[in-house]
Amino acid sequence: MAGVVHLRAEILDRLISEARRTPELECCGLLGGRGGVISAIFPAQNALASSSEFEIAPEDLFRLFREMRAGGRQHLGIYHSHPAGDNAPSRRDIDRAYYPGAAYFIVSPLPDVPRPVRAFSIRDTSVTELTIELV
Ligand SMILES: [Zn+2]
Repeated sequence: MAGVVHLRAEILDRLISEARRTPELECCGLLGGRGGVISAIFPAQNALASSSEFEIAPEDLFRLFREMRAGGRQHLGIYHSHPAGDNAPSRRDIDRAYYPGAAYFIVSPLPDVPRPVRAFSIRDTSVTELTIELV
């Protein structure tokens, strides 16, 4: 269904713990699953080691996609964190959204934000927030 992304509850917890593991840097990675349900997380290295942007190096990306396929999973999402806490897509996130079919998860490592994990669809610079449904 449009506007909804299905996620295993343990993946939500993992996203938050990944963001908090390096609260001063953007973390990033891929999300995979089967039947439209995200059930696996593939953490990547932020090649920029930055607090305001991220990039996954091509060789890292190929390795993660291989791992995902080997496990029989499809690429359903991509995630990164915003250390400053405002977990909405930045201009750069929108300009560099290369996977129109994927859900873009943005995580805040801060303890007091109302929604530490938000998900968006980003297609041709148009952003729609997705409802996260835990399954
Ligand atoms: Zn961002």
